[in-house]
Amino acid sequence: MNIAIIGGGLSGLLCALMLEKRGYSPTIYERLPKIGGVLDSFKRKQVLFDIGFHYSGALAEKQYLYNSMQDLGLLEKLQLEKYDGVFDILNIEGEVFEVPQSSSLFQAQLQERFPTEKDAIATFFEKCYESSIISSKPEEFVKIDSRSVGDVLKDIKNTKLRKIFLHFTIFYATAFFEEASFDFYAKIFINMLDGTRKIEEGGGAIISALQNSLMTTKIKKRSEVTEIILDEDGVNALVCNNERFSYDAIVSTVHPKTTLNMLQNLNKKQSRYKHHVEDLEESPSFFSIFCLIENEIVSNIYFYEDEFISVLPSRTYEGKTVATILAGSKYSEYENLSKSEYKLKKEQECAYHLERVKKLYDFGEIEVIDSSTPLTKQHYSNGAEGSIYGVLCSAKQKSLSVLMPRTRVNNLYFAGENIIAPGLIGAFLGAEILMNYFEEKK
Ligand SMILES: Cc1cc2nc3c(=O)[nH]c(=O)nc-3n(C[C@H](O)[C@H](O)[C@H](O)COP(=O)(O)OP(=O)(O)OC[C@H]3O[C@@H](n4cnc5c(N)ncnc54)[C@H](O)[C@@H]3O)c2cc1C
Repeated sequence: MNIAIIGGGLSGLLCALMLEKRGYSPTIYERLPKIGGVLDSFKRKQVLFDIGFHYSGALAEKQYLYNSMQDLGLLEKLQLEKYDGVFDILNIEGEVFEVPQSSSLFQAQLQERFPTEKDAIATFFEKCYESSIISSKPEEFVKIDSRSVGDVLKDIKNTKLRKIFLHFTIFYATAFFEEASFDFYAKIFINMLDGTRKIEEGGGAIISALQNSLMTTKIKKRSEVTEIILDEDGVNALVCNNERFSYDAIVSTVHPKTTLNMLQNLNKKQSRYKHHVEDLEESPSFFSIFCLIENEIVSNIYFYEDEFISVLPSRTYEGKTVATILAGSKYSEYENLSKSEYKLKKEQECAYHLERVKKLYDFGEIEVIDSSTPLTKQHYSNGAEGSIYGVLCSAKQKSLSVLMPRTRVNNLYFAGENIIAPGLIGAFLGAEILMNYFEEKK
């Protein structure tokens, strides 16, 4: 079977490696001159910055990502780094809460701080543990859990406590998002508390480890797929740089809205499916500031005021903290600007977030090295509205189950951050679920 993969980001490379393990030799089409997609890192003034990876859960021994990486031979190529005690510090309307590296310790700390909610906290953790196992087995992922985080949190009455729990929706949806899918929430929540790790050299190291593991995959860079060709039996070819290439199956890791726009002559059922996908809501867009901070910062700091802003440290460089400041931003405000208007707007927004963050905490001097807007994410992903994680992972959208690896178009499959869920966990899970449709080659 001849398989094409569209997109050379984390998900494209992962799918290729998993297909190789099953005996296939796929071809990756990547439109940019470099592979890596959002997971890329970059160097400015000799300092290494991460774009789309800071930390992930499920990386402690025997947890999901640790095991998957070990099975794929990636673990030996990566250096996992533990946080020293606290990994997140939450500043919610002026009050500080520390998130320790242990679910049982976090539960005990919350019960001590909110004694009247002791039983409700215990029940909430219990429900999270029940849904925390991450598995790509068909019998597991076909079970649709339509509960939202808000549904499961209903017995927690204290507003601050609810916000502490809802902080964890920020890793796959948006901050304090009650409608977030609980199923994915539980997996993120428990697996972060018990197994958050950084990776030395960040996202770039993951991409190098994947690239170095590929043996028979062909990677075509500067190769934008512009059309996917379809007949009544399903997709059978794609067009890239004005040339047509035939395939038995096509896996797209690109945003499903972008992918379905590459198909012509859809039948009625397929057109309905396309409209359904077009209507899906996106996660919010964001602004990043890549900077050097004078003071030492070891935990990720989240400030929740009227607007949210976070400071995510990656490593140290010449005694300073290499960090990303991440804040909400609006794609629509950048979409139609001229080059000079764009530059001005970007400078103004950068100055605005910097000012805010300096007022919130004593970071010492902050040297801005670079920044990125919602258009930058759009450029890296070719997705929709520069959304941070693509399609919003809400309970409603996930229970519609329109976005699964097997699409309503024969021989066309989806993987990537939009399908099951975003991030390292989502990309691995999506790629593994996809493999259920590709039998091992004899
Ligand atoms: C600011 C930010 C911080 C993040 N932090 C974390 C974190 O700390 N931990 C974590 O686990 N996750 C994090 N994530 C999420 C994670 O980075 C992404 O979910 C993941 O990298 C997505 O990988 P992907 O391969 O699915 O998509 P992408 O990286 O978007 O890859 C898609 C690829 O397809 C290519 N492409 C698009 N259109 C075409 C076409 N027509 N033809 C050919 N190629 C095409 C693109 O160029 C791109 O390379 C973060 C994301 C962002 C934006």
